[in-house]
Amino acid sequence: KLPTIYLITPTYSRAEQKAELTRLGNTLLHVESIHWILIEDSDFPSNLISNFLARFQALSKNRSNIRVTHLVKRTPIEYRTKLNDPNWLKPRGVLQRNEGLKWLRNNRNNIDSRGIVYFADDDNTYDLRLFDEMRDTKKVSCWPVGLVGGLMVERPLVNDENKVIGWNAVYKPERLYPLDMAGFAVNITLILKNPKAFFTLKVPRGFQESYLLKQLISDISELEPKSDKCTQVLVWHTRTERPNLKQEVKLKRPSNENIE
Ligand code: UDP
Ligand code: MN
Repeated sequence: KLPTIYLITPTYSRAEQKAELTRLGNTLLHVESIHWILIEDSDFPSNLISNFLARFQALSKNRSNIRVTHLVKRTPIEYRTKLNDPNWLKPRGVLQRNEGLKWLRNNRNNIDSRGIVYFADDDNTYDLRLFDEMRDTKKVSCWPVGLVGGLMVERPLVNDENKVIGWNAVYKPERLYPLDMAGFAVNITLILKNPKAFFTLKVPRGFQESYLLKQLISDISELEPKSDKCTQVLVWHTRTERPNLKQEVKLKRPSNENIE
């Protein structure tokens, strides 16, 4: 049996949430040995996500038989993105990812000891081959991410011996590991061996990945480049335009009354 990939996905309530999760779920239905840990940015599990996951489990039964775990963790008010804040102002998904890490550690006796942990945001686009690439991660594997850091592709630079020797990042190149959340995966052993390794609200935007990775590895020599020496893009940091719902205010009742 393949090692389990533990996907940690923070998600928050907004008009397009169900659409984003439907698209990500449809991708995951094609992947074997996945355990999807979905963490709502909320104090309580919502009906929308509970229903979604129940449907998703049923769909996956005769396909990839994905396991799901539904968690909640609300971002404290002072760290929440307000409607008119630019999206880069506050960190996003931080405490939710930590909640996923905590769950893995609390369930260390029941999880796949050969497992891999990957932080999969709900709005990115994932090529199915990405999951094959990360499946044999020994410590930390990494690969290019498309459409991030102000570039077509932000990626590790790799030599002929398949070692990471640097980065092409232009956005905050002073970062220790200048790669996106979608650009690396971690063997579960490292997560369990370093039980205090977490993300934090206390670093500037862009520094989450470096902050976590420096608690797990000592330098770039420990990185395992994937995707053909980091020359292939298998994940994109796509972002969804905020939907135009301007006409809703003209209605007496919302257009989705009694419609999930
Ligand atoms: N997210 C969250 N709470 C928020 C904003 C975002 O849990 O208040 C989640 C979101 O669903 C996504 C991840 O955190 O899975 C990263 O957020 P987003 O994709 O909006 O960030 P960006 O693409 O701008 O880095
Ligand atoms: Mn995103």
